[in-house]
Amino acid sequence: MKDPITFADVLSARKTIAGHVIHTPLRPSTALSEQVGSPVWLKCEQQQYTGSFKLRGAANAVLRLSDAQKAKGVVGVSTGNYGRALAYAARNAGVRSVICMSELVPQNKVDGIRAQGAEVRIIGRSQDEAQHEVDRLVKEDGMTMLPPFDHADIIAGQGTLGLEVIEALPDVDTLLVPLSGGGLLAGVALVAKSINPGIRVVGISMERGCAMITSLQEGKPTAVRELPTLADSLGGGIGENNQYTFDMCADLTDDFVLVNEAQIADGIRAAYHDDQQVIEGAGAVGIAALRAGLVDNPGQTVVLTTGCNIDMALHKRIAGGEDVDLMAE
Ligand SMILES: *Cc1c(COP(=O)(O)O)cnc(C)c1O
Repeated sequence: MKDPITFADVLSARKTIAGHVIHTPLRPSTALSEQVGSPVWLKCEQQQYTGSFKLRGAANAVLRLSDAQKAKGVVGVSTGNYGRALAYAARNAGVRSVICMSELVPQNKVDGIRAQGAEVRIIGRSQDEAQHEVDRLVKEDGMTMLPPFDHADIIAGQGTLGLEVIEALPDVDTLLVPLSGGGLLAGVALVAKSINPGIRVVGISMERGCAMITSLQEGKPTAVRELPTLADSLGGGIGENNQYTFDMCADLTDDFVLVNEAQIADGIRAAYHDDQQVIEGAGAVGIAALRAGLVDNPGQTVVLTTGCNIDMALHKRIAGGEDVDLMAE
């Protein structure tokens, strides 16, 4: 039996990662506050090192390794923000990192991860084949695999984001949390419910292929078809043998909301024009949900804006008014 993750784990994660992550700003949004009729803030993790909150969990997991594990290095599978974060956290701790990915991953993403200091291994044509290489590195080279969300140290690290929000704004009524594998939601909701069970935690995902919400509806981890979406960082499954996030998301979330592609584009656009923030699709789903009126009576609201890593040409088209549909391209 695995040990449950506790509030104390988040407090020690905060100590562990202090100085390795930015305490990001909590920025009032005048435009959203006016639209909603109650105060709204953005918790600006798009300003986090590496461009997303994923550094919190990755830093905690890497720094908590034993010296023997650090000496052998870490390995992960990721095409996006987690790969960058793990590479950065490892380099910062003087630990070797290898990120495995399939040859379908676009070159700019490969370069982004390499730029953070990871060795990138391009293996085969699917995530599964990349995973085989990870398994080999663990078995033959003794490296430690650190998964992107379903891991106690990752979840505790993401929880530090919730801690920062509630310390700055103890009266918060509603937290809007982008949801994919659920590491962020699990950590933040654990903190919120430990401090004040009355804080409402809303998980937000895209209509196009949300694995966690589908899994919760089915009552077990369920694979969904991956489709092109503006919220690309929210794609992917929750793992057949999910250990933590499935149960924690089921137990700790008050509501789930789904947003469509036009709403996500609207969120990205509003973040830029009203709040001067470049936010990627996954990071803008909370803004999208508020603007579409999908969260009833939210009260004092904090929107977790989780990342900034969006292709600049795509951002320009959306900010310019286009409702880009990636499925039609
Ligand atoms: C990974 C990610 C999420 C979702 O986090 P999970 O822990 O997988 O639910 C949200 N936003 C951004 C920008 C991300 O990179």
